[in-house]
Amino acid sequence: MNVHVWTKLILLTLFSCAEIKPLDQKQSPQAPKAEPKTVIDSDPDTETVIVKKVIEPLSLEKMPPQKLSQKLDQYCHKIDDYFARYKWGQSFCHKYDWHHVRNSFLGNPIIWKVFGDETREHANTTLILCGVHGDEITPVKFCFDVLKDLTENPEVIGDNLVIVAPLVTPDSFLKKYPTRTNARGIDVNRNFPTKDWEDKAISLWKNRYRSDKRRFPGKKPHSEHETVFQINLIKLYNPQKIISVHAPLTLIDYDGPAEGESAGKQLLIQMSDRAGKYKVNDYPFFTGSLGNWAGNERKIPTYTLELPNSDWTKTKKFFNIFRNAIHHAIAHDLHADVDDEEKVSKKKNKVDEPVL
Ligand SMILES: [Zn+2]
Repeated sequence: MNVHVWTKLILLTLFSCAEIKPLDQKQSPQAPKAEPKTVIDSDPDTETVIVKKVIEPLSLEKMPPQKLSQKLDQYCHKIDDYFARYKWGQSFCHKYDWHHVRNSFLGNPIIWKVFGDETREHANTTLILCGVHGDEITPVKFCFDVLKDLTENPEVIGDNLVIVAPLVTPDSFLKKYPTRTNARGIDVNRNFPTKDWEDKAISLWKNRYRSDKRRFPGKKPHSEHETVFQINLIKLYNPQKIISVHAPLTLIDYDGPAEGESAGKQLLIQMSDRAGKYKVNDYPFFTGSLGNWAGNERKIPTYTLELPNSDWTKTKKFFNIFRNAIHHAIAHDLHADVDDEEKVSKKKNKVDEPVL
């Protein structure tokens, strides 16, 4: 092949490759454009020229901070203080384009971040909640690990939408001695307005739980900012599935459509498989819990992911255990046909009633 033909071929290939799109940067609007590099390679057997575009991985360290409101800026500094306290490294709180509407009782912003284009209709939206119980320390870091991971690897999002609220009950986490209940002494995960709340919540608390202050459901359902926040998020984004991260029961509990081989239950087993056969469970519904309100009553598959414990030195390990399971859950469209290969048998383990 003469030099002229070679030049023509290279030019042609370059033009045809102009249509190759770099990774969709819309997923993380704060991310600086990663400049694709062009690598030209040739295959000696066929004399064809291969042009590859190499995307540099995004790095939160290199991204500029957001222009946050004064309130969010102060809040992020507070988060940073607690990251330092637990020796977690950088939170990157100032780098995210947070959504913020509602504050907690003590005035802390209850924030969330959206990955994907939320102006589009999405069939497959995943809601991830952390820090519902403030004394469960490790889940808060877990959500910040998810935020970092999804920002630096936007290809995980694909065409889907992911909503992450890393600290639902900030008042009970941002204190010297974190508590399960919020600043008004209420267990947010017993305050959802489930159908059985009026009949059962107070009597269960008094009789079965012997007025345990850590489980007080409130005088009325839906009375807490943190409960209203979660319900509004669910109504706003209509998620296909919800993952709420807690500790320390070392299991994934499922609430949702229960028919034998339902897509929601299949995903439960798939997540468990991807997290080293993590224990799965099927607890009964709790009066006033998210699992009851969203999973049982609204048929939104709801996964309560219980990390092994609240040991804040182990957060890296916990995220590594579940990273693949989280990626799989984000990509998995529960409304699509279930892949036969993914079908797994139902598993059930009976243990004593936990404090979710
Ligand atoms: Zn909990």
